[in-house]
Parts: sequence; C-alpha cells; structure tokens
Amino acid sequence: DHPETVSVQACADYALRLFQSRLRDDRIEVEQQWPEDTLWVKADLVRLEQVLVNLIGNALQAMKETPSPTLTLRAQASSQQVIIRVADNGPGIPTQYLEQVFEPFFTTKAPGSGLGLGLSISSRIMDDLGGKLQAANLPGGGACFTITLPLAPAPR
Ligand code: ADP
Ligand code: MG
Repeated sequence: DHPETVSVQACADYALRLFQSRLRDDRIEVEQQWPEDTLWVKADLVRLEQVLVNLIGNALQAMKETPSPTLTLRAQASSQQVIIRVADNGPGIPTQYLEQVFEPFFTTKAPGSGLGLGLSISSRIMDDLGGKLQAANLPGGGACFTITLPLAPAPR
C-alpha cells in the first residue's frame, strides 16, 4: 500500500478511461457532476481506482437490458468528507440483498460471469481507508453506491 494524497477526479478519470470503448459500444450515457475544486483524499490511487472500476463494471453489467442506459458519477464534499456516488438506471438490487451484496462470493450472476468478490473487496478497501461503501436503490429505479472518505488537505 502506498497511501498518498490523490485527486478523486483523477481516479474517476482513470477508471472511466478503462471502460471507454465499452461505454461507446453499449451506447451508455455518462453523466458527471463534480465540484470545481479538486477533492483530495488519502488513499492508494490504484486501490481507489479499483473500487471505482468494480462499481462501474457492475453498473454496466446491470444495464445490459436497459433501454437508455445511463451511468451517473457524482461527487461532493462536506467539511470533513468526500461523498462519491456511482449510480445506474438498471433494475436495482432486490431489497432483500441490499446487505448481502457485500458478502464474499455473493453473486446473482451466471457461473463464470461473476465471482461475487468485487463488492466485498471494495468495501474492505474503503474500511482500510477510514471510509465506507454503501448500497441503495434509487426512487426512480437503478442502484446507487456511495463511497464516503475522509477529506484530506491539498498536497503542497
Ligand atoms: P459480481 O459482480 O461478481 O457478482 P460483486 O461483489 O461485484 O460480484 O456484486 C455482487 C452482487 O451485487 C451482484 O451479483 C449483483 O447481484 C449485485 N449488484 C452489484 N452491483 C449492482 C448494480 N449496479 N445493480 C444491481 N445489482 C448489483
Ligand atoms: Mg462485480
């Protein structure tokens, strides 16, 4: 681990770039809402990027049958915390699984297409960074994952 001060925006850019061709091929609309100021967190860039990649990958898989698939990435800061949201307009998570999705090997995917480890690892990474990862469904349908991390002072 190499905790350093990293920009949330830069991490999200890296993660999105990995999905560039898939976003285009699947005609996914990407909505982004970022504050003007850079949001700094103490994290290992690769690990935070890994969490975002897991969440975006899940969102894209969930929207396979969605007519106008939209991926929403949003971040905001309060005085102490950064809140990052990754949302989709897929079918959402069945309410009875909202807690279970973070358990190792929990998957609703066909054998071979998901190991069920992405969210348990991501949640573990967030705990290690002093943050958390939460799952919810959106009122209009779709799933929304919220990352909360302590805000770090800008590097000098
Ligand atoms: P995997 O993707 O290998 O199944 P994950 O830990 O990443 O494992 O996710 C566990 C389960 O959580 C998924 O199988 C799915 O049932 C549910 N899930 C995760 N993200 C979403 C999402 N964006 N929309 C609906 N269900 C989701
Ligand atoms: Mg996954």
